Amino acid sequence: MSKKEAKYPKQAKKEEIEEIKKIFLKHYPDSVTELNYKNLYELLVAVMLSAQCTDKRVNIITPALFKKYPGTKELANANLDDVKELIKSCSFFNNKAKNLVAMAKMVEEEYGGKIPLEQKELIKLPGVGQKTANVILIEYTGANLMAVDTHVFRVAHRLGLSKAKTAKGTEEDLVKKFKTNLHQLHQAMVLFGRYKCKAANPLCEECIVKKYCKSKEGFKARG
Ligand code: SF4
Repeated sequence: MSKKEAKYPKQAKKEEIEEIKKIFLKHYPDSVTELNYKNLYELLVAVMLSAQCTDKRVNIITPALFKKYPGTKELANANLDDVKELIKSCSFFNNKAKNLVAMAKMVEEEYGGKIPLEQKELIKLPGVGQKTANVILIEYTGANLMAVDTHVFRVAHRLGLSKAKTAKGTEEDLVKKFKTNLHQLHQAMVLFGRYKCKAANPLCEECIVKKYCKSKEGFKARG
């Protein structure tokens, strides 16, 4: 093992990966996002707001935002300062407000008011990167895709499912290792990381995959 890799824990073996997968699917069979939404527009806006912000906070912000701007048509014509005011308790609200209005304009002008449901089109929208696009497709269409946020990154590394240093690299490892049921495994790892395998004080005593844990060390997603 090179010096560069030495600080990462042992990697899970093939049989262990299968067992971890089975356990996650059994314990989190029908998990969905904790963001509140009623349609694709609301889901897209909520996911864009959730970057570096908790789902709880986003759910506090969105009712008033959706009331004032019920669709891309209204949001495309919004006054930027009004949008900022409505989302100001969210991190990076200045940029997010700009992206939200620009996204709505693009949907109206280039997609005839219909939010595209393909990854390569979604990522063209302002403020929508691959992770955001994948989260939307996972949640809305059940697509066999993985998205790596800070929770998925931490869980993947603690279980020896990846030693990649970036979210993108971790996503590739998880896709290669799990292959199927990726959307369910994504939701499972988000919830497991958020409530059980927490960054600071993981609940190791009651952990469902304790047997396979390679490390009790915390890891932080980059990139
Ligand atoms: Fe996370 Fe602890 Fe379970 Fe390891 S044993 S996966 S650190 S909760």
